[in-house]
Amino acid sequence: MSDTTEKTPGRKPKPTLTRIGNRELSPATLMMGAGYDPQLSEGSLKPPMFLTSTFAFESAAAGKHHFEGITGKRPGGAEGLVYSRFNGPNQQILEERLAIWDGAEEALCFSSGMTAICVLMLALCNAGDVIVHSGPLYAASEGFVAKHMSRFGVTYIDFAAGADRAELDAVLAKAKAQADENGGKVAMIYLESPANPTNALVDVEAVAAARDAALGPDCPIAIDNTFLGPLWAKPIDQGADLVVYSLTKYVGGHSDLVAGSVSGATKWLTPVRMLRNTMGGIADPNTAWMLLRSLETVELRMSRAGENATKVCEWLARHPKVEGLGYLGMIADPRQQDIFDRHCKGAGSTFSLFIKGGEAECFRFLDALTIAKLAVSLGGTETLASHPASMTHLSVPDARKQALGITDNLVRISIGIEDADDLIADFAQALDAV
Ligand SMILES: *Cc1c(COP(=O)(O)O)cnc(C)c1O
Repeated sequence: MSDTTEKTPGRKPKPTLTRIGNRELSPATLMMGAGYDPQLSEGSLKPPMFLTSTFAFESAAAGKHHFEGITGKRPGGAEGLVYSRFNGPNQQILEERLAIWDGAEEALCFSSGMTAICVLMLALCNAGDVIVHSGPLYAASEGFVAKHMSRFGVTYIDFAAGADRAELDAVLAKAKAQADENGGKVAMIYLESPANPTNALVDVEAVAAARDAALGPDCPIAIDNTFLGPLWAKPIDQGADLVVYSLTKYVGGHSDLVAGSVSGATKWLTPVRMLRNTMGGIADPNTAWMLLRSLETVELRMSRAGENATKVCEWLARHPKVEGLGYLGMIADPRQQDIFDRHCKGAGSTFSLFIKGGEAECFRFLDALTIAKLAVSLGGTETLASHPASMTHLSVPDARKQALGITDNLVRISIGIEDADDLIADFAQALDAV
């Protein structure tokens, strides 16, 4: 090998083989090779970590050509590597693999889920515009819309996650009137499904139909797919345009990194990429490298966690100290079940456990757990448990807590990939301690 990626940043890896004959290869297979050509890196089977702030140009003309792409003078963006605030080999490979999972044209990676969400909103909204969003959202997302986008003249209207078509039509009509009044447009419909901790699913197909009828295709539908993606839900299939992730959760999957992403069509992502180029906020090479490792096992990990959650929930549902479960594998409402059947390939591994009693009973249960760790977050290899009313949602006003169903007897659980019967033994002794 004489030419390496470092010496020739303009060289492109061999195109990824995505089919054999007419067989389309599955994402699980493509995670081991897509977007990486060992021959560009001394034959190294795995992508090296590229710890560099900048990339040497082959020639002055090549440097000019790259910057014409970066600055938007020429469409299509940079055709090679320029500077590590814009991109790097580890991040490019990661982005190609993330796009494969979602069936998206492209993906962009970020230093956190919240960076992805904030840059997305800032890139697509102007003063006078309205964001329509489902509720509740992840608290920081809701706060960014209400407290920060508002400083730039962007207002919002929210609707309950489980809204039906008639309710969606009404909220979009109201949003259109508000946008007209403010001299803007409805810039984005922003969804999060399932909502946390209610687990209410958004009917993305109904949102897409309502959007098409009221606004046409110029208003993108973005959805935070952190809880069910990339394995159990593919919202692009239901009409979403942009899919947002906290990669910190199931995708990273080992509770050892913080990162985020947005995937979707190039037409929506180009302004997002331009703003990321300006602001920064791209995932660093070390984190991108770790995520490449995580993606090789994401299907295995999520499948196991999902199977474990089914076993654990079946056991918990029959326990005399358990009042109920908010688990997508045990939906009581027929309309929600219909959305689940149309949108989801699995029930996930994060759910709400309602223990008979209140805070004291929940605390005794949490303090007695030995395998499950007491921490917020979700989607890691280890099982986590927390008490939303006194932790993540402590500052939520009581009336809103009640409306969201965040009661004092609610424990939030994210099941990991341990042995399911060991987990059941742990929950059994912890419920005994209640
Ligand atoms: C964790 C989380 C976020 C924020 O992601 P970070 O990586 O912590 O910035 C956004 N949305 C959902 C649903 C999350 O669970």
